[in-house]
Amino acid sequence: MSKVVGIDLGTTFSAIAHVNEHGKSEIIPNAESERITPSVILFDEDLVVVGETAKENAIAEPELIVEFVKREMGKSKAEYFRSFDGPVGALCKEYGPAELSALILKKLTQDAEGYLGEKITDAVITVPAYFHDAEREATRNAGIIAGLNVLQVLNEPTAAALAYGIDQLGSDQNVFVFDLGGGTFDVTVMKVSESAIQMIATNGDHRLGGKDWDDKIIRYVADLFQVEHGEDPLRDLRAYQDLQNRVVDAKKALSRRPKTSIVCQYDGKSTRVDLTREKFEELTADLLEKCRSLCEVVLAEAKMTWNHINTVLLVGGSTRMPMVREMLAEISGKEINPMEVNPDEVVALGAAIQGTLRQISEGAAAELPDAVVDRFIGADGEAKVTVTDGATHNLGLVILNAQREHIIHVMIPKMTAVPCEKTNRFGTVDENQPSVLIEVVQGLEHNYPKDEVIEFDQYKLGECVLGLPPGLPKGSPLHVTYKYNLDQTLEVTARGPDDRIAEVTIKRGTLDAEAVAQAVKNLQTLEVE
Ligand code: ADP
Ligand code: MG
Repeated sequence: MSKVVGIDLGTTFSAIAHVNEHGKSEIIPNAESERITPSVILFDEDLVVVGETAKENAIAEPELIVEFVKREMGKSKAEYFRSFDGPVGALCKEYGPAELSALILKKLTQDAEGYLGEKITDAVITVPAYFHDAEREATRNAGIIAGLNVLQVLNEPTAAALAYGIDQLGSDQNVFVFDLGGGTFDVTVMKVSESAIQMIATNGDHRLGGKDWDDKIIRYVADLFQVEHGEDPLRDLRAYQDLQNRVVDAKKALSRRPKTSIVCQYDGKSTRVDLTREKFEELTADLLEKCRSLCEVVLAEAKMTWNHINTVLLVGGSTRMPMVREMLAEISGKEINPMEVNPDEVVALGAAIQGTLRQISEGAAAELPDAVVDRFIGADGEAKVTVTDGATHNLGLVILNAQREHIIHVMIPKMTAVPCEKTNRFGTVDENQPSVLIEVVQGLEHNYPKDEVIEFDQYKLGECVLGLPPGLPKGSPLHVTYKYNLDQTLEVTARGPDDRIAEVTIKRGTLDAEAVAQAVKNLQTLEVE
């Protein structure tokens, strides 16, 4: 039968897992025997190196390195390179974010196939809950380009809750998932019950992560170097990369020890900086504050207080910082236990579980080993748990109100359980109106905007024009249906009074089928190590 894996395609680190013959989800180590793989790509002619080796080469050959691709998902190749603030070699320029992510996926699956000794066909790939449609579609495309059958693009907090909740089913529990990774932060409230795991509320900041903590220390150390030697070491790319590595090591050391020291070298000069955990926490207090306030926002969105929360689940490598745990203990009034599961593995573990659950729901139960059946399938022959994700953004359309102002009508409010389908009746605004334009938007509130004029374009997913028969009176009925699928893709249909139908071809992501096919070909000529 087809082999399914779960993949956490992270900003800084990625991980891959599968459900073994004992029904247990486990991480598959890479060819370097590491359980997580740096999401770093090194281009060396026709050879592409992904992971630790690429990362180690970053100092020597920074111009051949691409990293933090996840922050650019959903952008076109052109947009991506306009936004590129790092150096980039000619070769890197040929690939857009989906293709670059595909290279990381290729490395993960290739190594996993080597380890398991079997071909991997299917995958569940995770994304942050706040990813929009274009970013989700780019992630799906990355999987396809890497040669995978992508069963689902799953929200990371859902995956984490699943890895934790699969053994907690039966008792109702509210789980607060706090995910602070390398470049992203998100907070989600999940409900674990009898046989379902459901998302209640979520919010995030996709420009906040461990890297921001690093940057504060880098700046601090560089300033001290400048005071001593009168030069800014950050102006030199190699010195910068070197300092970055030292700073990350120091930060990790401070998760265990009260103090450490960092040596900054540049232009034959060096400065040694002693750094205490206290000073580190003082330098980064504003970042922690951002985390704290987002926790309160999400709790309010869930219409809960900390008393309603049973468990705080720590996800992401940056939750190893004591300041994060202390803050959470303080605001929640709960004991924050170091988890039995590793914070940087739990998302991939959950994705692998969801992969198996999807296979079961598609009728693969008979082919599964007994232990897997025992763990995942109930007495009724159905999967023991269903995962209900909420729509992570409002989905609406632009309409004209009585004052002929453009406002938003929300068709599917944020957190509506997916899959779902909603139909609403609208009326034509003019007599003998020849057509109606349906503009699909994501992430805007009902009735928005009240007085201000806003650019809808940045929220727009797509549009379609429905032609109308002549002679219709004002207020003639139009029915619009939004169908939101499990992987958070959207189909929109509009029906006129003569049953004429228009469907929105929402151009999701930035690659059409042809471009994906071309990308698959391009990648075949590259060897990934
Ligand atoms: P992502 O999901 O964004 O790829 P991860 O969840 O793997 O990231 O977390 C990576 C981040 O965690 C990095 O910023 C890394 O420096 C940080 N990190 C890892 N281990 C520790 C530690 N022991 N103490 C502090 N930060 C850590
Ligand atoms: Mg992560």
